[in-house]
Amino acid sequence: MTKNAVQNCAKCGMCLNVCPVYTVLNEEQASPRARLHLIKAYEQNKLSSSPLLKEIISKCLMCGSCAAICPLGINHYSEFMEMRKRMVEDHGEKLPIKSLVYLLAKEQRLKFANTLARVGQNIVPEQFKEKYKLGNIPLKRLPVLNKKPFRSALPETIFPNGEQKGTVIYFTGCATNYIYEDTGFSAVNILSHLGYRILIPETQTCCAIPMLFHGFVEKARQSIKENIAALSQDSVDAIIVDCATCGTALKKEYNLLCDKLDLDKSAVDEISSKVTDIGSFMLANADFFNFKKIQNPKSLNLTYHLPCHLKNSFGNTETMETLLKIIPNINYIKAADFDSCCGGGGTFFYEYPEVSKKIGNKKKETAIKTGADLWLTDCPVCRINLSGNLDENDSLKVVHPVSAISSLLKPKT
Ligand code: SF4
Ligand code: SF4
Repeated sequence: MTKNAVQNCAKCGMCLNVCPVYTVLNEEQASPRARLHLIKAYEQNKLSSSPLLKEIISKCLMCGSCAAICPLGINHYSEFMEMRKRMVEDHGEKLPIKSLVYLLAKEQRLKFANTLARVGQNIVPEQFKEKYKLGNIPLKRLPVLNKKPFRSALPETIFPNGEQKGTVIYFTGCATNYIYEDTGFSAVNILSHLGYRILIPETQTCCAIPMLFHGFVEKARQSIKENIAALSQDSVDAIIVDCATCGTALKKEYNLLCDKLDLDKSAVDEISSKVTDIGSFMLANADFFNFKKIQNPKSLNLTYHLPCHLKNSFGNTETMETLLKIIPNINYIKAADFDSCCGGGGTFFYEYPEVSKKIGNKKKETAIKTGADLWLTDCPVCRINLSGNLDENDSLKVVHPVSAISSLLKPKT
């Protein structure tokens, strides 16, 4: 633990009301403050390691809201990650989480598992999908996996249709590569429309956040090194991420791990300085959009969910709203709790389905109240969770903002 962590905690309680888990459970042991103080007691040998301690430390979405509000600048992320590592060493991890980490640690394994899962999705009977759930999400509401990895469907370099304004790297993350190719194709269409040459390095891999957040720090080393090598390219204006959590890894977490994992600090700094979420990139280039003329100009009713990592790691609270308001043919309707956590939290929706469901249901109610047709969010786990919490008869559809925006662009001739 860093010297300025628990020792400095003034017990002010400001982190309590922003914590989604504490808010629904309303018990001190579910609060960020309690987790920090339990870590302190453990480090001072006043509390022994136990499965219960592991459970309390793990029942956290790693959303970062506590760290963002703490007046003393305590980095809860680092504290929790380090403690999770110790807890996994002491008590092991559940088989599904260990299996996920095993797959994510090597791209080839992930590719193979995705092929198998895709076959499974096709042969599992519908009655089975209706009856069983993954955490709080019915199997029938899980996304259909890509037929083939998104990155293998495109060349590594894509030239813009028209004059070239610059070059960007597109870091697709695992979700776009294996689950949501609609996000990938829309992002490429937008970047190309804006005049950028797009590099999609085939050697990029999992951003490593799932491994880091589950305490498998050493297992994450290889993926991080592969990403640093893939993203360290000269003459690149920006590294675009379509997932706020991948962005958190590239922008902040790799930096904090340089010493521990023996990373190339100057390369990590360079990457960190270039990482931009696609919402900010679109807003900065908004003058260069050329939209189609639509008969009914307010035909697309949209609402938006702001991912925690975009808010807490990038400090982007209004970027997407600002962008949506200036795009013609969009009727943006703000949900009252657009910036509160959805309860997805990586694997949290699977590990703690009841807590996740309670958090997700609140979001669902306010989103439905807006009367929107599309619910936008720029995080794939939020998308899985928000969509998974909807019912068959809810008309709301969850997509990445790039899909909505791309559909409005005038095709270039
Ligand atoms: S906000 Fe910071 S100082 Fe206040 S209780 Fe939480 S961790 Fe402690
Ligand atoms: S990271 Fe989020 S869920 Fe975890 S303790 Fe902090 S506010 Fe609560």
